[in-house]
Amino acid sequence: MDFVVRPEQKIPLRRYDVVVAGGGTGGVFAALAAARGGAKTALIESKGYVGGIAAEGGCGLHSFYNLWKPFNVEKRKVVRGIPEEFIQRLFQAGGCSGHNETVMRPEYDSDTLCVDVEAYKYSALCMLREAGVHTLLNTHAVDVVREGGRISGVITESHQGPEAVMGKIFIDATGYGDVSARAGAGYSEPNDYPVVNSMGVGGVDIDKYFSFLKESGALFEYARGPRSGRANQIIRADGDWARVDPALGEAVKRLGMSGVTTTIHDNYFMFIKINFKMAVSPSNRDALADAEFELRRRQQEALELIQKTIPGAANAFIARTASTITIRRARCIECDYDIPLNEILNGAHYPDEVFSYGFHDSAPRLQIKGGKTYGLPYRAMLVKGLDNLFAIGMMITSDHEAHMSTRNTVSCMAMGQAAGTAAALCVKHDLPGIRDLPYPKLYDALKSGKVWFDAEIPYK
Ligand SMILES: Cc1cc2nc3c(=O)[nH]c(=O)nc-3n(C[C@H](O)[C@H](O)[C@H](O)COP(=O)(O)OP(=O)(O)OC[C@H]3O[C@@H](n4cnc5c(N)ncnc54)[C@H](O)[C@@H]3O)c2cc1C
Repeated sequence: MDFVVRPEQKIPLRRYDVVVAGGGTGGVFAALAAARGGAKTALIESKGYVGGIAAEGGCGLHSFYNLWKPFNVEKRKVVRGIPEEFIQRLFQAGGCSGHNETVMRPEYDSDTLCVDVEAYKYSALCMLREAGVHTLLNTHAVDVVREGGRISGVITESHQGPEAVMGKIFIDATGYGDVSARAGAGYSEPNDYPVVNSMGVGGVDIDKYFSFLKESGALFEYARGPRSGRANQIIRADGDWARVDPALGEAVKRLGMSGVTTTIHDNYFMFIKINFKMAVSPSNRDALADAEFELRRRQQEALELIQKTIPGAANAFIARTASTITIRRARCIECDYDIPLNEILNGAHYPDEVFSYGFHDSAPRLQIKGGKTYGLPYRAMLVKGLDNLFAIGMMITSDHEAHMSTRNTVSCMAMGQAAGTAAALCVKHDLPGIRDLPYPKLYDALKSGKVWFDAEIPYK
């Protein structure tokens, strides 16, 4: 490859206490927590809105609860704090279904929570504004300024040109781990999931879809909740199209299409996933561009299949797609602790844990035993070798099966609150690095932020 040498550049800078890169599922909550903790906070987001995959590709948000139903144990709302406050606000705005019990496959998730993705984006932006977060939309984090073991700034590009966003503490919430990688952190690129572009399909009646699955013996999961202002409606349905007809099953498999859909509006499928397994990691730009094309081609094919197959859907149309491919992970960033699968499944709790969590996406094959929860240790978010950088969201946890738990939306939101709270405390107490924060201070601040701990933490 040929190269050019870029001349040294003098670029304008802005100063903050806490800088969060990536305004997605986790980043929104990191920025909210940091700002509410008194830190002057910047949130850098490459798109024109916030919310990330929770507002682009996620289906039901998994999960605020433990898996209580199959184990017949106490039902516990495990994740609370700012994520739950956000859900309540979204519910009041008519933008989500609230918490509803899952029927037929409760051994996967006992709770179903569906969102309106546009309401999600708007409500999140409102909360960020109210908290005084400087939200730098349409701004890409492209590089870092590193001084020894610390980052002192993130270099951004926007339509107004390059800027240096300087800070004391940084949180990488880019999903791709762009900031950590640029800062020289260790990482792997497991390329162990398909990439996806989820689509919303209009002109489809979910009751008819539900009946179609049920009458064909293909239904395996559903939930009822509020839809278009009426209670107790179908809001989630999932089925195996191969049980309808093996040829249909083959077509769906070839497209990588999932039969699960959620909605809170009549005549609208909020979400149909089309999966595509790339040969190389999604951090490869040109391979990603090819995958973007392939997924849009498959969406057209999937639409035709829906029109032909689902009763009453002859005039179905694609009402929305994700603005870019969504990934389940690209880089996995090395942190001080890498939570292993057995600790998740056995419901381990830690002396430095920052929240409790009770969902595993491979259930019922892999469940957190006995409807228990595990704790996420603070150490799991500290980027190895860097004094002032947190990594949150889908980029932590190297083991694929363990990641199938930590990567879920509600876990990413909770990580956001934890890292944002810790970052603000580090600034407030003028600490040299994120490892110098005494855990009791963090625990007390998280408790004040309504984070719920499912286990006694013997720290005092
Ligand atoms: C198709 C799909 C379906 C899923 N289904 C579910 C589900 O049903 N339930 C569930 O709970 N979980 C689900 N997951 C998992 C879950 O949604 C993700 O793991 C989680 O949302 C990741 O959150 P995050 O904050 O790490 O990343 P994201 O939400 O992707 O946020 C990253 C943000 O950073 C921004 N960004 C990226 N790079 C830069 C940069 N260089 N500069 C500035 N901004 C940048 C992005 O635009 C984005 O807003 C699904 C994932 C996928 C892909």
